[in-house]
Amino acid sequence: IFKDYISRFPEETDMFITCNENMKLKVAAGSKDIIVKNLYLSCDPFIRVLMSSQGSELFSPYTPGTVMTGFGVAKVMESGHPEFRQGDFVWGMVGWEEYSVLKPTDGLFKIHHTDVPLSYYTGILGMPGLTAYAGFYDVCKPKKGEYVFVSAASGAVGQLVGQFAKLMGCYVVGSAGTQEKVELLKNKIGFDDAFNYKEEPDLNAALKRYFPKGIDIYFENVGGRMLDAVLVNMRVRGRIAACGMISQYNRTQHEGIHNLMSIVSKGIRMEGFPVFDYYPKYSDFLDFILPCIRQGKVKYVEDIAQGLDKAPAALVGPFHGRNVGKQVVLVAPH
Ligand code: NDP
Repeated sequence: IFKDYISRFPEETDMFITCNENMKLKVAAGSKDIIVKNLYLSCDPFIRVLMSSQGSELFSPYTPGTVMTGFGVAKVMESGHPEFRQGDFVWGMVGWEEYSVLKPTDGLFKIHHTDVPLSYYTGILGMPGLTAYAGFYDVCKPKKGEYVFVSAASGAVGQLVGQFAKLMGCYVVGSAGTQEKVELLKNKIGFDDAFNYKEEPDLNAALKRYFPKGIDIYFENVGGRMLDAVLVNMRVRGRIAACGMISQYNRTQHEGIHNLMSIVSKGIRMEGFPVFDYYPKYSDFLDFILPCIRQGKVKYVEDIAQGLDKAPAALVGPFHGRNVGKQVVLVAPH
């Protein structure tokens, strides 16, 4: 599997996964570190960005020879920190390994609600969920009856944005890369319509078909050709939440965008938003989303790979659209 990864990304061989079998579960006296057992790891697109030598504005690139980090759900085994106790469940940045030593910071959340699957804290109840919530409600500022388009719609973020749009009384169409995902979006997740972008030679024409009156809100997950086609189909005073651009993460330069003038001529607002800016709103988000899950108002689809040895393939999968729903790796049952 690792060879498969390297052959796909030959220039990026610095991913490092370790199983530290001899770890002594003891925190040094006076240390505020915690030792956690990792249960679930989250396969997030930004990990690919950190594998390039630049990293991102928010995170430094991975250093070859050190353990890769990413979001995960873990159980506290030992704690020197007053706010964390043995047996607590947490989510936040962990290592891609069986056990991690963490310095609890603002980025590590204690899990208080365990009546829902713990894996949800890598997705709907974690960073991607908050992203969908903040990006849709805060950045897009939706109004009832508006026309909403979501790309990468069956992914962790997209599937939630589509459902939030329905709760708001909007008309929502999603794009995805297989017929199976299109059916899932229409029949299970509740999008009004969906299409397979890989079967549309002319994205502009496809969007005109699904949005004859134009698009008020575009929740942007992919960038490139799709963004260009959306720009000419936006309505006056439309909003674009620039959440991510996964189609560009394996490129060194963004694919040509030709229709940027639409932003000027139609008074479109396009806004990027790092989810970390919204961490202070996490508890508001939980108050909103937990009842939705418990009452079945919001559905959630995840794709769980079993075992750390499946992690490299699981991580690469979303870049080929192999995941159906949020891609997670189960490291250890709890
Ligand atoms: P997922 O990993 O759940 O899904 C990614 C999906 O993207 C894949 O399943 C695939 O589905 C699609 N995809 C992959 N390559 C391409 C391509 N070349 N062109 C079009 N679609 C492609 O993603 P998330 O829902 O977790 O993330 C969605 C976006 O949100 C990403 O761009 C991510 O970087 C961004 N993000 C931004 C955050 C922020 O703070 N702003 C926070 C979290 C995520 P398909 O079969 O449909 O092609």
